[in-house]
Amino acid sequence: MRGPAGGSGGADRPDTPHLVDSFGRVATDLRVSLTDRCNLRCTYCMPAEGLDWLPGPEVLTNAELMRLMDIAVTRLGVTEIRFTGGEPLLRKGIDDLVAGTAALRPRPRISMTTNGIGLTRRAAALRAAGLDRINVSLDTLDPERFVRITRRDRLDDVLAGLRAAHTAGLRPVKINAVLLPGVNEDEAVPLLRWCLEHDYHLRFIEQMPLDAQHGWQRDRMVTATEILERLSGGFELTPSRTPRGADPAERWLVDGGPGEVGVIASVTRSFCQACDRTRLTADGALRNCLFSQSETDLRAPLRAGASDAELADLWRATMWAKLAGHRINEAGFAQPLRPMSAIGG
Ligand code: SAM
Ligand code: SF4
Repeated sequence: MRGPAGGSGGADRPDTPHLVDSFGRVATDLRVSLTDRCNLRCTYCMPAEGLDWLPGPEVLTNAELMRLMDIAVTRLGVTEIRFTGGEPLLRKGIDDLVAGTAALRPRPRISMTTNGIGLTRRAAALRAAGLDRINVSLDTLDPERFVRITRRDRLDDVLAGLRAAHTAGLRPVKINAVLLPGVNEDEAVPLLRWCLEHDYHLRFIEQMPLDAQHGWQRDRMVTATEILERLSGGFELTPSRTPRGADPAERWLVDGGPGEVGVIASVTRSFCQACDRTRLTADGALRNCLFSQSETDLRAPLRAGASDAELADLWRATMWAKLAGHRINEAGFAQPLRPMSAIGG
């Protein structure tokens, strides 16, 4: 599935060290997938079973990852690194990776997206290593629904992990929630109320066509409009005045503030025109979009002895070829071959 970087990467690319694309966007936010493995099986992400893991030798080592992150920060202008997966807390040596990232100069902001399982043991060490912020995924407060969505009975572990992150000072703790029709769509208001009470910042994410089993259906997703209608039944929402920048979330003040809620409407109100992301998979493939059909293999040249300058130029060429948008709303849209869990959400 590894294709060429796509696009020219060539003559018309401006002479800049940064990760620019042909639509004028500049990528400064690197998402690093640390593993495609996970201890949950969320229905909108993974099948119950039968998904092959990346073979161990294909996964970048910590030293290889550090080298690529160093190139991203020192040569390409990356200012934010987010660790994700799969479940990033399953990665061995993650504290060292965070500490190594924090030692890069200029120091990037460091964040992580996790399902929260294991945070009770890890949050303080991750904070001490240099982790700045954390997003924990939580779609329901109901134990039975949690099992239905994630196929595992781990709600208590996630709630304990959230508390540990907050106590460790990883604030604001953000929560990502996906609403599914007929499963948890009625939890928009209770989830927000609970998050406000616990000082967690809630963001709803529209379900995207990125599940491994290709089961996403447009008429079976809860849209941003529906989420906002439901929230308006329990709260008064007014648009946040904070400039949105490249934040994928549209934010609203809740009952006049200071509490806020975000909605990431990737499908129905796409924000591709402001995208500042570049992505590295656990096996060293570079992607210029969650939805891109091609990727650039950095692992082979890395292992064959390519110089930092050569790897940086491959990265620039990949980003230059970024398309204007994800095309989910266009006829003929095709889901990427890799599922969300193997790209890194
Ligand atoms: N395992 C970690 C977690 O769940 O937070 C990190 C990886 S997960 C792929 C990152 C985020 O992607 C989670 O917030 C998850 O809810 C979201 N996600 C996964 N599949 C999705 C889909 N099909 N549509 C929208 N969001 C999705
Ligand atoms: Fe695992 Fe995160 Fe995917 Fe759920 S969303 S299956 S926790 S990778």
